[in-house]
Amino acid sequence: MKTWDAIIVGAGPAGCAAAYDLASAGHEVLLLDKADFPRQKACAGGLTVRGLKALRYSVEPVVRQKIARMRLERDADRATTMGRRTACCFMTVRQELDEFCFRKTLARGPQFRRIRAIDAIEQDSSGVNVSFDGEMLRGRFLVGADGVHSRVRQLTGMGEGWFWRAFALEGTLPMAKAATQDLVFDFAPVRDGYGWIFPKGDHLNVGLYSYAVDERIDRARLAGYISARFGAQADSMIGQYAGFGAAQHQPGEDRVFLTGDAGGFADPLTGEGIYFAIASGQAAAAAIEQGLTSGVPAYREFAQETAPIRADLALRTSAARWFYRSLDAAFRLLSMPLTHGPALSAFVDGSDLRKFAALARK
Ligand SMILES: Cc1cc2nc3c(=O)[nH]c(=O)nc-3n(C[C@H](O)[C@H](O)[C@H](O)COP(=O)(O)OP(=O)(O)OC[C@H]3O[C@@H](n4cnc5c(N)ncnc54)[C@H](O)[C@@H]3O)c2cc1C
Repeated sequence: MKTWDAIIVGAGPAGCAAAYDLASAGHEVLLLDKADFPRQKACAGGLTVRGLKALRYSVEPVVRQKIARMRLERDADRATTMGRRTACCFMTVRQELDEFCFRKTLARGPQFRRIRAIDAIEQDSSGVNVSFDGEMLRGRFLVGADGVHSRVRQLTGMGEGWFWRAFALEGTLPMAKAATQDLVFDFAPVRDGYGWIFPKGDHLNVGLYSYAVDERIDRARLAGYISARFGAQADSMIGQYAGFGAAQHQPGEDRVFLTGDAGGFADPLTGEGIYFAIASGQAAAAAIEQGLTSGVPAYREFAQETAPIRADLALRTSAARWFYRSLDAAFRLLSMPLTHGPALSAFVDGSDLRKFAALARK
């Protein structure tokens, strides 16, 4: 039986990031997905500066709008706007972004197969067997990049005790004439989260997100929000969970690496997941590259490569608890011009949240 250097399950941002780097380094990579591309993915498609920088290629052709300002709203009477001269967030439609990245990745040489369902995963000391659709394939390593409901995580039992998820729902509506050109985060409509309004050229993407697992977000609630705000109805609505918990997880001695939402690499504070998917996918690729070429145990490399990402997420998880529990105080702080630079930077550049926290303590 042929042994692939790596089998990667899921061709979203995490899987493509891993496949791109490994294939570019000349390794034999098999990329599997249950969908053909383009495929739909519930996501507001906001790419931060650090997300854009993490990618190995320009995604300019699929950027719908560049945003330089962010408006935060506490309620009808309290709002603050922060911005910079250059763009801080890049608006994409996920279907377009993912297909673009998928094509860029395939051009580096990995093989792609569409599959129906993975039935079993078995690890041994030199590789991993993956059974799906009545056949079995073998890889030296396996990357689980199959999103929040990851079959790889379930079949390996790797998510027990640390993985958790929370829901977000979005709708699209044609861009109204007076609609915003800024990103809007509105902290009034849900607990432990926000309503968002993202402009994308010809339409608005409007949604509700909460990291609280017991906060009910449904179509009626989003429809009510959109109607109250715009006097209009959404063309369509789609929801999905995002995966959290990577900060609480120390990767073990495995030949299987969980990345992106599958590995809980999303930020509960902001709901951002694309950057973390790319970064964790690239970390898996770097670890596998080490394992294949230098004999250094890949699991050790993966733990090391993801350590800064997990530390950042740990800080963001604590910040989320503080921020949403002390929303009025947090909002007062965010309304001070002095904090705009550090807050924006922590959000879009990924600069250390501690700078913002230091201002909070003053
Ligand atoms: C409503 C909503 C809005 C969001 N907005 C933003 C935003 O604006 N900015 C941001 O940074 N983040 C946002 N996020 C988070 C972001 O969407 C995710 O964190 C990100 O998509 C994770 O990427 P991924 O590659 O891990 O998984 P995914 O993008 O989910 O890709 C997983 C891939 O695996 C495939 N797959 C799934 N199961 C299997 C299987 N069993 N076998 C084979 N293939 C499988 C899927 O078809 C898919 O192609 C949002 C999330 C939601 C729910």
